[in-house]
Amino acid sequence: MPVASNPPRAPGATPLFNRLCLLGVGLIGSSIARVARARGDLARTVVAHAKTGATLDRVRELGIADVVEEDPERAVQGCDGVIFCVPVGAYAGLMAQVAPHLMRGAIITDVGSTKGSVVRDLSPLLPEGVHLVPAHPMAGTEYSGPDAGFAELFQGRYVIITPLPDSDPAAIETVREFWRRAGSMIETMDPATHDKVVAIVSHLPHLLAFTICSTADDLAEETKEAVLKFAASGFRDFTRIAASDPTMWRDVFLNNREALLEMLARFTEDAQALGRAVRWGEADYIEDRIRRGRKIRKGLIDRKQA
Ligand code: NAP
Repeated sequence: MPVASNPPRAPGATPLFNRLCLLGVGLIGSSIARVARARGDLARTVVAHAKTGATLDRVRELGIADVVEEDPERAVQGCDGVIFCVPVGAYAGLMAQVAPHLMRGAIITDVGSTKGSVVRDLSPLLPEGVHLVPAHPMAGTEYSGPDAGFAELFQGRYVIITPLPDSDPAAIETVREFWRRAGSMIETMDPATHDKVVAIVSHLPHLLAFTICSTADDLAEETKEAVLKFAASGFRDFTRIAASDPTMWRDVFLNNREALLEMLARFTEDAQALGRAVRWGEADYIEDRIRRGRKIRKGLIDRKQA
């Protein structure tokens, strides 16, 4: 659902890319296509590639890209910008296909939810003279596919950029400016810090949501009825998160394994401590935990990220 309009295009601003290729046109890729179309100063021409004919047909129908290309090798040819917008588990295979066809001087960036794996999978295949600047827009919904995108998705959201020590400064600045024009605020981090941060703020909450829904599903038939009937309590918010795309999230979990397992271990200790307080009637401890939750929520509202 649109939340705000994008910042107006600076009159006469030159498009950042002459020909921009989006590898993947789901929620994130199609939102980039839409914001590029709405503003006009991100790319002169947008080329879209996806895996299946059905998605390519839908992108044609929606009219959100200038060129729709079923062959990834052809899609990247002549492009000075390429954005990987596919599940992170597909990066290595796709990069192996497109690398020999990348234009010298092109900037390769991405939107993947993990960053250590992206550096691992893309940088060894990077041709001489092609620049890699990984990025992760901290924006999304539980929906997927080309119909799910909207131009305002990145408005007022953070984009974390994780440049490599030898990334070209001009390429980094182009990627920063790209996201600024899309309405985002930019943070820079190293990939390991990024992966730790998102493990706690995004990946662990998804793991918990998938688990709580599976646990509820395992309950006896009559309880399940009650679960659905009374879902308007806290459970409903978990089901929204748990509706997310299975392929995307499978890949995220498998490609941020260490950080996710570390956060899960810490969470499990803390959850057990709270359970122990419940068992032994430690009211102060319980109240303190609830107050900390409220404080975090207020902090998000104050930062306009709620
Ligand atoms: P999505 O809606 O499921 O779209 C994925 C797109 O990738 C589809 O167009 C799909 O094509 C294409 N694709 C998959 N495998 C491919 C392959 N081997 N070759 C070419 N195209 C392929 O996913 P999304 O939510 O946009 O996520 C895309 C990326 O953004 C992921 O890396 C994810 O981690 C990251 N991200 C997601 C969110 C979020 O909230 N969803 C937020 C921030 C970042 P078909 O439709 O033809 O299969």
